[in-house]
This record gives sequence, structure tokens and C-alpha cells, in this order.
Amino acid sequence: MLKVDKIDVYYGNIQALKEVSLEVSEGEIVTLIGANGAGKSTLLKTLSGLLKPKNGEIQYMGGNIAGKPAQTIVKSGISHVPEGRRVFANMTVEENLELGAYLRKDKKEIRNDLDKVYEIFPRLLERRKQLSGTLSGGEQQMLAMGRAIMARPKLLLLDEPSMGLAPLMVKTIFTTIEEINRTGTTILLVEQNANMALSIANQAYVIETGRVVVSGTAKELQASEQIKQAYLGGI
Ligand code: ATP
Repeated sequence: MLKVDKIDVYYGNIQALKEVSLEVSEGEIVTLIGANGAGKSTLLKTLSGLLKPKNGEIQYMGGNIAGKPAQTIVKSGISHVPEGRRVFANMTVEENLELGAYLRKDKKEIRNDLDKVYEIFPRLLERRKQLSGTLSGGEQQMLAMGRAIMARPKLLLLDEPSMGLAPLMVKTIFTTIEEINRTGTTILLVEQNANMALSIANQAYVIETGRVVVSGTAKELQASEQIKQAYLGGI
């Protein structure tokens, strides 16, 4: 479905991604793990068209989308939930969710998807008229994910959905990611919480200072001594 081939991405003179390659097959959850500043967010921003790679290709559903405008990429079925769960604070929960579907015209289907989001996140249904800026961190994360679901993506890019959340909420978010995947959405998940990410992923990549240094099945990475020491707290 997605094949990233040796992309180089720069911020001015600073190279943030170095010949990064990775693949995501349809139906999978693929995770990208790595420390602060490794380049995880940069990769997602490049995939969704917010940054342009200097070299390399991004093949998605048969075409090269590298450097295409973000609007075109969203239309082709890629939704990005950025780090820090940016919701529109002065709009209600429901208005935020409706915004997620702004490119769609199928009113009835949009209504169905709204119901689906409320089914996945009952908390959002309870708070549908509440201003989003007053939601808790975990609720805002749910809203950011719900809004992305409303775009009916084929590929969902999630940037550190567990960041700053209490352990119970982290569990809820990860269970939901699996649920979204079961309903047919392919997922590329960026995480610092390697334990949780590897527990739900099929394939995994480790990125260090802009380079992919390890890749394999999530099971292989969970079993690797090197990964355990560096990313799984040595357990
Ligand atoms: P984190 O988990 O801390 O968000 P990350 O793996 O997502 O880390 P990136 O945000 O992709 O890392 O950053 C990769 C590198 O690029 C870092 O060294 C960072 O300082 C640099 N960088 C990111 N954004 C910019 C920017 N707008 N201008 C200059 N350098 C940037």
C-alpha cells in the first residue's frame, strides 16, 4: 500500500531523515519507534505532504506522492493525527468531528460514521456539545482520532497517541487503535511507548538520528536483546 524509498528530508541545512525506507501493507498496523528527535514526526509530516523530501520516492496506491500538496494526499485517503492532538478549542466536540469529513459529500454515510465514532468513544457522545478546549488530554486525543476517522482514511498516521496520558487511558487508546484497524483501516503508528506499540503491531521499524536502524516483525523486535535494552526498559 505504501512504500517509502530512500527519502532524505531537510530542515534548512539540517538533515532530519537519511535514506529512510519502509513499507506498510494493506490491513496492517506498522509501528515506528525511536527516541526524542529521531525523526518520527518528520516522517509522518513528509507522508502527509507537510514536508517535501529532497530525494527519494513515496509510492502510495501505485503513484509517487512525494512532494504532493497535503490537500491532494488527504483526498487520496491518508489522514494524519499530529502530535499534541490539535483540536479546535472553540468548537464543540461534534463540530470538530464534522470538520474531519469536510471533503466528503455523502451526508448519510457521514452520519453513520459519526455514530461509529461515538460508539468507539462513548465519552465523546456524552460531551458532544462541550467546547473541545475544555476536554481532558485523553478526551482530546480521542477527539483527534475520531476526527481522523471521519475522513474515512485508507491509511491512518498516528503520532504518539499515548503521549502524556495516564496508563488506563493509554490502554483505552491502544485498544481503540486495534479496533479501528479491524474495521479496515491500515495504520502507521509512531510511538515512544515501544512496549505498547510492539504489542499491537504487525511490523516495526526503529529509527535513530534520522536513519532506520532495525526492522522486522513486531514479535522479532520484542524478542531482540538489543531492542529490549534500548527501548523496552531492559525487561
Ligand atoms: P519527538 O518524539 O521528540 O517528537 P521525533 O522523532 O518525532 O521526536 P522530529 O520531530 O521528527 O523527531 O525531529 C527530528 C529532528 O529534526 C530533530 O533533531 C529536530 O530538532 C529537528 N527538527 C524538527 N522540526 C524542525 C524544524 N521545524 N526546524 C528545524 N529542525 C527541526
